[in-house]
Amino acid sequence: MASTLSRDSSPAAAPDLFENERAALRKARAMHAVSDANGAEYRQSLGELIDHFERLMRETRRLIGRSDRAEREMQALAHQLAHRASHDALTGVLNRSAVIERATKTLRSKSAAMIVLDIDEFKRINDDFGHPTGDAVILGVVDCLRRIVGERGFIGRVGGEEFTVLLPGHDPDSAALLAERMREAIGESLIVPPVDRCITASFGVSNNEAGTGFDTAYGLADAALYRAKRSGRNRVEFADQ
Ligand code: GH3
Ligand code: MG
Ligand code: MG
Repeated sequence: MASTLSRDSSPAAAPDLFENERAALRKARAMHAVSDANGAEYRQSLGELIDHFERLMRETRRLIGRSDRAEREMQALAHQLAHRASHDALTGVLNRSAVIERATKTLRSKSAAMIVLDIDEFKRINDDFGHPTGDAVILGVVDCLRRIVGERGFIGRVGGEEFTVLLPGHDPDSAALLAERMREAIGESLIVPPVDRCITASFGVSNNEAGTGFDTAYGLADAALYRAKRSGRNRVEFADQ
């Protein structure tokens, strides 16, 4: 096999990748056609054929290994791309379009509680401590949510400092309890130096029958969140249903 696999760009000069093997084969065929060659000649021809055959096997093994690696890299890349398309880059939770897709799909067949929450006075945290600290606060809030939600539902980031938690199959009481636990976890235990004040969030909760559309479930929870903001923040309000 020719030692390199690089190709000349000009079609007229396209190299024959198997030039050496072809020559060895030609020689072996010619030797095979000779009926009265002596043993030494046959052995030499066979030896050359063995060399080329072994080299071909080594090269093939190397190419298979390389193509397997390329395939694994492609799969990992495709996986990364799919993850990036559906997840928020900062926090790793579902992004807005993925939230809409997952919630719509879930609500088609199941009842689900939708919690919408928004960090209180977040603009002041950015203004007073800078954007990177604001990002760290967002990460801290998501950490609190993750600890409490666990496998019970999925978290999404639908706006800068606004998140959703969808809890499939949850009854109103347990959804209310979980929202309250999230509020407490953020307000009582989230400390992000150098922020020198309590970080809090406001919550709105809607409880939705199977068959409810995303806009309805989200709209109801968002209206409740708006009431929580107007009533002083750091509280959970429920949709009128
Ligand atoms: P409220 O209690 O009414 O929600 O007040 P707020 O200050 O939290 O709300 P407002 O909508 O006035 O400000 C939200 C701010 O969030 C404004 C925007 O610059 C900031 N923000 C949005 N996305 C990001 C982000 O990814 N990182 C950081 N650090 N800030 C962000
Ligand atoms: Mg806010
Ligand atoms: Mg907001």
